[in-house]
This record gives sequence, structure tokens and C-alpha cells, in this order.
Amino acid sequence: MVRELRRDRTGFVLTVGPTVAARRMRADAVVLAVPAAPASRLLAELAPRASALLSGIETASVVVVTLAFRASDLVGNDNLDGSLSGFLVPPSEGRRIKAGTFSFAKWEWVRDAGGGDVVHLRLSLGRHRQEAAVRASDEELVAWSRHDLGLATGLTAAPVASHVQRWGGGLPQYAVGHLDRIAAVRAEIASVPGLAVCGASYDGVGVPACIASAHRAVADLRAGG
Ligand SMILES: Cc1cc2nc3c(=O)[nH]c(=O)nc-3n(C[C@H](O)[C@H](O)[C@H](O)COP(=O)(O)OP(=O)(O)OC[C@H]3O[C@@H](n4cnc5c(N)ncnc54)[C@H](O)[C@@H]3O)c2cc1C
Repeated sequence: MVRELRRDRTGFVLTVGPTVAARRMRADAVVLAVPAAPASRLLAELAPRASALLSGIETASVVVVTLAFRASDLVGNDNLDGSLSGFLVPPSEGRRIKAGTFSFAKWEWVRDAGGGDVVHLRLSLGRHRQEAAVRASDEELVAWSRHDLGLATGLTAAPVASHVQRWGGGLPQYAVGHLDRIAAVRAEIASVPGLAVCGASYDGVGVPACIASAHRAVADLRAGG
């Protein structure tokens, strides 16, 4: 955990670790691969404009509910015969879930984990500015997931197991003007020698985009010397 980032004449000084045992670390260069909110806090003194711009990036909180069903409960259900990998639900549908992933159909290792008797699938809940999903209890989230899954696929059997995982603030939201915002962030960051940023807040939230932004950060540092 990095708590503070400063620059002196020879490089960066990072304050790291728990507050009760904070320590200093020196670095020649720093790539901030953290979400926009901590990046904004860490950049407050080094790059105040970038810090302010990053603090304006909103996020959505997401919940993933995984359900395990008896394989026999899916027999005869055309939606769940393994030929589809899932579905998306537009907000206009008025449902709690926003997507379903038929994990057993999508990934062989998930299918293998079920051993032939059990199949796993997962539902995603939580849209931008709708924090109800992350605040709901596990029981509510499972009930909503089962209800909406039933409407989408006809599967009404009771799951044999369930798991709820919350990702508070997990997905940055790209508002109108995001590209200009990020260009301005990078412009100020580039004026601090040895500093770069990357991650889901910049050029795309998918893992490939995050990796590409990491390559770009390193290339920018190298180009800057
Ligand atoms: C539920 C869900 C499902 C998704 N599914 C997919 C998918 O199927 N395919 C896909 O391509 N993408 C998917 N994504 C998007 C993708 O997973 C993320 O956008 C991506 O992993 C973000 O990577 P990152 O490195 O930017 O951020 P993170 O993985 O969030 O890493 C940031 C790290 O910074 C650390 N950190 C924070 N503050 C500090 C600090 N002060 N000091 C030190 N460390 C700090 C955090 O602990 C964290 O480890 C999904 C996202 C979610 C939430």
C-alpha cells in the first residue's frame, strides 16, 4: 500500500505499508497502476491538475453471483444446452441482473470442475449509480439472480450452492469527454520525469486494454529517459 508519493532531486520517495509501521522507499521511476481514486490522492502534490481530473472519474460497483445447479435440472432447456455462452440485459428491461454467463458452456475447466453432475453459471448485478446491488444481502442477491435467470432462461430449479462476490467501485465509467480528460492527465504526468500511469481508468476497462496501457506507460518512461 502506497500512502504518499513525493519527488526530490534524485528520484521518488514513497511512503508504504500500514500507518502503524509506515516506511520510506526510494525509486528512480514510478508507474501508478492503481484505480483513479488512489491515483488522484497520490498525485495531489506532484500533478495537481491530473489529480483533480482523475478524481472526477466515476465508477460502478458490481456483484457477481455464482450459482451451481444439478446438471439434470438443465436437461431439455434449449437456452442452457451449452450452445450459448450467456446473455446481456439492457437497463430498459427493468431487471436486477445485467448479464448472465453460462460458465459451464464457456470454459472447459469450469465444466470439468462440475464433474458432470453439477453446472456453474454466474449473474452480474450493479449498474452505474445504482449502489443497491452492493448493499443488498447475499440472500437478496441470490434471490434476485434466481428470479431474473428464471425469466431469461426458464430455469426455476433451486441451486445446490451459491457464492456472492462484491466488487465495490470495480468498473470505471467513461463519461463524455473521457479521451480529453485522459490526454490532459497524461500531459501533466509527462511533465514529471520518471512518472507514468496505467490501468482501467485510461484506455479501456478490459484486461487487454489494461495490459496495453501498461506497455504504453513503460514505453513513455523509456522515451522520457
Ligand atoms: C466483476 C468484473 C468482471 C470483469 N470481467 C471482465 C472480463 O470478463 N474480461 C475483461 O477483459 N475484463 C473484465 N473486467 C474488467 C477488468 O477485470 C478490470 O478492468 C481490470 O482487471 C482492471 O485492472 P487494473 O490493473 O487497472 O486494476 P486492478 O486490477 O483493480 O488493480 C489495481 C491494484 O491497485 C491496488 N491499489 C489500490 N490502491 C493502492 C495503493 N495506494 N497502493 C498500492 N496499491 C494500490 C489494488 O489493491 C489493486 O490490486 C471485469 C471487472 C469486474 C469488476
